[in-house]
Amino acid sequence: MARNVVVTGSTSGIGLAIANVFAEAGDRVAINGFGETQEIEAQVHRLQQLSKTDAMHHAADMTKPEEIADLIAATSRRFGSVDILVNNAGVQHIDKIEDFPIDAWDKIIAINLSSSFHTIRAVIPLMKTKKWGRIINIASAHALVASPFKSAYVAAKHGILGLTKTAALELAEFGITVNAICPGYVLTPLVERQIPDTARARGMTEEEVKTEVLLKAQPTKDFVKAEDVAALALYLASDAARQVTGTHLSIDGGWTAA
Ligand code: NAD
Repeated sequence: MARNVVVTGSTSGIGLAIANVFAEAGDRVAINGFGETQEIEAQVHRLQQLSKTDAMHHAADMTKPEEIADLIAATSRRFGSVDILVNNAGVQHIDKIEDFPIDAWDKIIAINLSSSFHTIRAVIPLMKTKKWGRIINIASAHALVASPFKSAYVAAKHGILGLTKTAALELAEFGITVNAICPGYVLTPLVERQIPDTARARGMTEEEVKTEVLLKAQPTKDFVKAEDVAALALYLASDAARQVTGTHLSIDGGWTAA
């Protein structure tokens, strides 16, 4: 039976790959995020074709609690409920703490952490009614270890693990699991765009930027694929994962083993 899925920040990268696998599994998917209207319409159409059922886009800005509440309400109105929530929207800003712009800190905490509180808060009554639900938070290797100059991102990602565990305990007896996925570097369009610039700035080849800058911390020296992260999300949403709750699954090429 088709399940009803919301994936935040899913007009690009990992979120879009997650939307794809759920649509392929025949689920109804609501995507969210920014982009060109025509491109988003094409994505929704493609998801509808893939799933042979429904798909939609909601433009909620993940910094705005009332828009986030409307994302869940509008999806539930159209699909009938929300069974699977994937909190994926995330942004980055890199600066020393003493130079870190206050508005960049506030934005990252809002999008990468608080938005998940707002979505989870809104889906709980829907999931409790069905006595079934899956909440999957896309965290990061930076939920487990830090890197310099990423204070807001690291703080938000560590925070999301705390929220994951707390929600899992509160929802354990309602057939609702809550887990986090912690990816290492994933070659999303965002990361891809940074490579030529970094190569020019550092006088390196693009290959050197990948292995010596981006993948320095990743022992496999290879990127995680967005599709690999999506496959893990699909597993966490399955019935086989019903006893997996309140934890994180790393998919980071060995980064956090060191
Ligand atoms: P991306 O930039 O490709 O996609 C981000 C998505 O979020 C886009 O759809 C964008 O429109 C949306 N978005 C941005 N601001 C928003 C807002 N205010 N409201 C609603 N949507 C908004 O990024 P990605 O690399 O696919 O990252 C997705 C998630 O995975 C993030 O939480 C990120 O922290 C996490 N992650 C990424 C990597 C990586 O290497 N790419 C590694 C670990 C974790």
